[in-house]
Amino acid sequence: MDDQGIGSGDLTRMAVLALIGQRGPTSRAVIARDLDLSPATVSQVTRRLIERGVLEPLDFEPSIGGRPGQLLGLVATAGHAVGVKVAVDHLAIVDVRLDGQVVTSRTEPFDVMAPEAVGRLAASLRPFVDDGHSPLLGVGVGVPGIVNRPDLGMVDAAVLGWVNMPIGRQLRAELDTPILVENDVKALAIAERLYGRGRNRRNFVVITIGRGVGFASVSDGVVRRGASGGGGEIAHVVLSPSGPMCACGSRGCLEAFVGADGLVTAGRVAGVLRGNEGLGRLAELAEGGDGKAQEVFARAAQRLARAVATTMAALDPEVVLVAGEGTTSWHHWDGPFRATLARYLPASMRGVPVEVDSWDDTSWARGAAAIVLATPFDRNAFAGRQRPHVLARLHGSRDGIDEEAG
Ligand SMILES: [Zn+2]
Repeated sequence: MDDQGIGSGDLTRMAVLALIGQRGPTSRAVIARDLDLSPATVSQVTRRLIERGVLEPLDFEPSIGGRPGQLLGLVATAGHAVGVKVAVDHLAIVDVRLDGQVVTSRTEPFDVMAPEAVGRLAASLRPFVDDGHSPLLGVGVGVPGIVNRPDLGMVDAAVLGWVNMPIGRQLRAELDTPILVENDVKALAIAERLYGRGRNRRNFVVITIGRGVGFASVSDGVVRRGASGGGGEIAHVVLSPSGPMCACGSRGCLEAFVGADGLVTAGRVAGVLRGNEGLGRLAELAEGGDGKAQEVFARAAQRLARAVATTMAALDPEVVLVAGEGTTSWHHWDGPFRATLARYLPASMRGVPVEVDSWDDTSWARGAAAIVLATPFDRNAFAGRQRPHVLARLHGSRDGIDEEAG
């Protein structure tokens, strides 16, 4: 067992599933070659995974000479996970198959400040947990805050009014299923690594724009959490101690300038927005060619790019992925963002591509589900004490797993 409680049998199974998840249908010979395993080990591990309904034999691959190998594919319905994104005023919930496909999704109003908010969260999740189809591997919860350990699920999220809130423990008690809790942007990075643009990249960063500003990094294939889960919190680096108030309680954070509220404040100061007009109106004006409104987005983009340039110099990513609900207005950010990055980055990094994700309402919740779904595929997924429970639901009982673990 290593420090995350993973046995060698678990590791071999994970490596096989990860390879097939990434390549698609694969023969036993290719698995043995790519993972440097003996044919006997491969046939033992894959036989067990087929018995458990996680892999299925498919066609024979065409071969030039020699014996054609039978391809093994992942059974997408062998397990599923529920993901929920907790926002101040709503929940987005998805049910996702092993291959990342969303089966059902739902958005509902939620008052995070209400008494018994966690009980209500559990009540909203219960119909997804009890639906009785393929094995539920667990529930992933994405929150806009800091989570010290996903398996314990203690949350600090100023914007939700949660301080040391034991969400993981409370939901486990209510739902009796594995629960993993993670910062929502780190969860998105996990989803990118598993299903998205990060699939074939070991080093990348994710930035999100919208209500807040988010940042997460993947280095050598691992989502960086730092000592206490706060790795990547560049949103709350103070740019100007006398700047506008931030939701975190400090003044002049990056987020206070480039988050939704910061843009609206800047729009008012610039005389573009009046009364109760908000971000929607600012985008509308920029769309219509209002130079002052466009300037508000441009300034925010420049601030964001300067902050991101520093992190890029520290991390040396292959690509910058931009996501978040704010990307619907990305065309107002794009030019100034790229120009500023080019000006501030070390010369060697000026060619790093910036790619913008297509965004929809389920993206955050899909990220939350990915926290759970990464567990059987990725030895670096931080599932801690929840890992054996997630794996047992996919592979059968713990005893069944250990009988073949060498
Ligand atoms: Zn702040």
